[in-house]
Amino acid sequence: MIKFENPVIKQLLDEYKPLYGLDHALSIMGWDLWTYMPRGGTESRGQATSQILLVYRRFFLEDKFKSLVLKAKEIEGLNDFEKGVVRSLNRELKIMDLPSELLEREAMAKTKALTAWESARKKSDFKMFSPHLDSIIEIEREKAEKLGYEEHPYNALIDRYEEGMNVKKLDGVFSTLVPKLKKILDGLEKNSPFEHESELDSAGYDKERMKIVNEELLKTMGFDFNKFRMDVSAHPFTIMVGPGDVRITTKYEGGGFKRSIFPTIHEAGHATYNLAIDPTLGGTPIFSGASLGIHESQSRFFENMIGRSKEFTQLIMPILKGNLGLQGYDENDIYYYFNNVKRGFIRMEADELTYNFHIALRYDLEKSIMEGKVNTNELPELWNSKMEEYLGISPKSDSEGILQDVHWTSGFGYFPTYALGNIVSGIVLYWARKEIKDFGMLIGSGKLQPIKEWLMAKIHRFGGTYSPSELLKRSFNEDYNPEYLISYLEEKYLGDVGHGNRV
Ligand code: MG
Repeated sequence: MIKFENPVIKQLLDEYKPLYGLDHALSIMGWDLWTYMPRGGTESRGQATSQILLVYRRFFLEDKFKSLVLKAKEIEGLNDFEKGVVRSLNRELKIMDLPSELLEREAMAKTKALTAWESARKKSDFKMFSPHLDSIIEIEREKAEKLGYEEHPYNALIDRYEEGMNVKKLDGVFSTLVPKLKKILDGLEKNSPFEHESELDSAGYDKERMKIVNEELLKTMGFDFNKFRMDVSAHPFTIMVGPGDVRITTKYEGGGFKRSIFPTIHEAGHATYNLAIDPTLGGTPIFSGASLGIHESQSRFFENMIGRSKEFTQLIMPILKGNLGLQGYDENDIYYYFNNVKRGFIRMEADELTYNFHIALRYDLEKSIMEGKVNTNELPELWNSKMEEYLGISPKSDSEGILQDVHWTSGFGYFPTYALGNIVSGIVLYWARKEIKDFGMLIGSGKLQPIKEWLMAKIHRFGGTYSPSELLKRSFNEDYNPEYLISYLEEKYLGDVGHGNRV
């Protein structure tokens, strides 16, 4: 039972209500911007959004609210939920407390960088983007100094997205993950069915039919459409407006149907998390996920561990055949189509096995950038040589190399959370198999409810009550240990034989 009893916390939550309201409005404005609004209104939407953000910040920093946030930090004997509220607001205060001048400069630099990135990418010319990246680097370094850090300036930025994470821990994670994944990738036999590229990847589909497929998938996953909806956008996303209002988007490219169903299942995984947070946390600052990494673990768990499994493929075959035809293809063909492994340049198109190399590469580069060890004009070359080192391929142009992602226009520290999400999904799978009776059979028969209930009890219901590492410790007695993910991938791609380092 969730109770907020401490009088200071109760007052703090009462004062927080307008901020929650603003946050709610910003969510809807964002959703509208990325889905349906007329493109002609984007500039004025940008102005309105930044004004609301200013109001938000002004309110947060008002003496009355700020002093309550600081006062709450000193209280002893709080319950876990109350502690969560205090932790979360004090983390937010650190960001709000950055000088306005820096925040304005940042917003300006990032907007300009985004436009520059779009044209640079079109022309595949990094030089058009590099002066903008330079300003972002300068701002990010300045921000790290202001936020404060121990040991490494990059730590200040990483911690914003994954509380408690740092360079030392990430170095440990990647130095285990990368060589072991390389071994799996190199271990795929010649003519492995996983490396066989399916004709389905370029086959077209009827969009209306594909929509039905996605809707059927969501029904299979047990969504209550009274609290949930799905729309379309260029880059699929999930947004939580409040308890009882969670929205996802998917995309229809017209070909290669897995490129529509896996984004759908991925975002549906995020939505499952959001919908299972205890609704009594609604209106508080901990009505959220524990971190980006933990959130991503849930989308990856549904996308990869459930969605790309043999059992799930079998389950959805009738939906696929009924709507997409697929004459001449059996479950096995579809399973290998879903799990095709390819050493490719583009992160967004990467499969489960090669994906983490793309993140390791970006992590290496961001770390060197924050250390001041590398000049911006050396980055494309560095990118390409890392790609060669990790995947044995070398991009022929900037657009399939360093210019492919938009993320650097919004700063550094975000990418590692993608790999952390994969790592945590491995931990979750291990315990799900251990603790949920007939885990595979439940998937095969479309009975996902017991799995969702287990996830809710272990992770979802707490929202942002615990820091991500506290949550991992509490629910799985683990840290971000990559061995679970490695074992799962080994078993999947190399078969269940002769691995000494099982966890
Ligand atoms: Mg995601």
